[in-house]
Amino acid sequence: MSEVSGMSTSDQVNLLDFDVDGLVAWFAGLGEKPFRARQVMRWMHHEGCDDFDAMTDVAKSLRAKLKDIAVIRPPVPVRDSISADGARKWLLDVGNANAVETVFIPETNRGTLCVSSQAGCALDCAFCSTGKQGFNRNLTAAEIIGQLWLANKLLGAARDAATDLEAGEKDNGRIISNVVMMGMGEPLANFDNVVTALRLMLDDHAYGLSRRRVTVSTSGIVPAMDRLREECPVALAVSLHASNDTLRDRLVPINQKYPLRELMAACQRYLERAPRDFVTFEYVMLDGVNDSEAHARELVALVRDTPCKFNLIPFNPFPSSGFLRSSAERIRRFAGILIDAGIVTTTRKTRGDDVDAACGQLAGQVQDKTRRTVRLRQVTEER
Ligand code: SAH
Ligand code: SF4
Repeated sequence: MSEVSGMSTSDQVNLLDFDVDGLVAWFAGLGEKPFRARQVMRWMHHEGCDDFDAMTDVAKSLRAKLKDIAVIRPPVPVRDSISADGARKWLLDVGNANAVETVFIPETNRGTLCVSSQAGCALDCAFCSTGKQGFNRNLTAAEIIGQLWLANKLLGAARDAATDLEAGEKDNGRIISNVVMMGMGEPLANFDNVVTALRLMLDDHAYGLSRRRVTVSTSGIVPAMDRLREECPVALAVSLHASNDTLRDRLVPINQKYPLRELMAACQRYLERAPRDFVTFEYVMLDGVNDSEAHARELVALVRDTPCKFNLIPFNPFPSSGFLRSSAERIRRFAGILIDAGIVTTTRKTRGDDVDAACGQLAGQVQDKTRRTVRLRQVTEER
């Protein structure tokens, strides 16, 4: 169970808060067999079912009991926007006037869901609009896995409507093939709830995604990286953003606690267990700040002993950030130095920026608590 059962009424348990082992244990407390828990799990996560009455192969007496004491309650979408490039963004009400965002990015051979882990973030990276909001609270496991639950359901409904399926018929082609924990918040600062949600993403009774297709992105909380390696190793992305400690201390303040030497060592330890044999380093391109040829050469030396790929992210501006995006030419030259050193380097296409869904722009319009309340009221009223 998550520490904050934000989406349940006080006396009802939200079953989306459990991974498979957790649900089996909770069912055992009711005197129910493990296979019953797995049956309900499949209804919830394979079928997107939130109604116990619809679980036709579950004994009627158990359904009645569950209706009394439990709910299946994902977060509530208060806005659904589709970008011109096909990215789709949901703003989700997580209570107490907090909203988080989930973004779906369709590509030719895959569909990636970008999931949030916290309302706000305490780590205060200099170039990040989520960080500028400050920290509100951790999302529950139900609110994290609920983003996948909801997106599957809403995207499935849209696809079924667009194809010629009869009512009740299903096209089982997977719409969401990849999940990246790159939405709002620092996933490793909400460790237990994130790991519960990750286990559901991987479990065949729930979403059955491959470990290679589930990525946790972290700003570098070293002890939590070691725990993740032990408890649930999935693909790892690390937000590097600087080639030396002086610069990283300023851009990613958690670096003052876990400097680059420790971060690189943690990446190497992680790779001993990781499903992929490289770490992805994310590097936001900030004009005149971290994007010179000297920085690129310093990076090459820094990552010499760490198998890695680089993902350069052109900075996504937001009001009063104080930073500018590097020019395409500067990014090209920077990438060239990494590539010449034999490092696979891609430059991220900016997706969804017409609906403020690009990296670091999430909930850019809901920066302070007062404005967020007003904003949430507005979007709720728009429904
Ligand atoms: N907290 C985690 C994951 C969420 S942020 C982390 O920091 O890794 C996902 C990525 O977007 C991170 O690499 C983050 O540094 C980057 N990012 C944040 N703000 C950005 C902005 N304004 N423009 C471009 N990338 C940004
Ligand atoms: Fe938090 Fe990541 Fe933003 Fe840093 S970049 S403030 S860790 S969400």
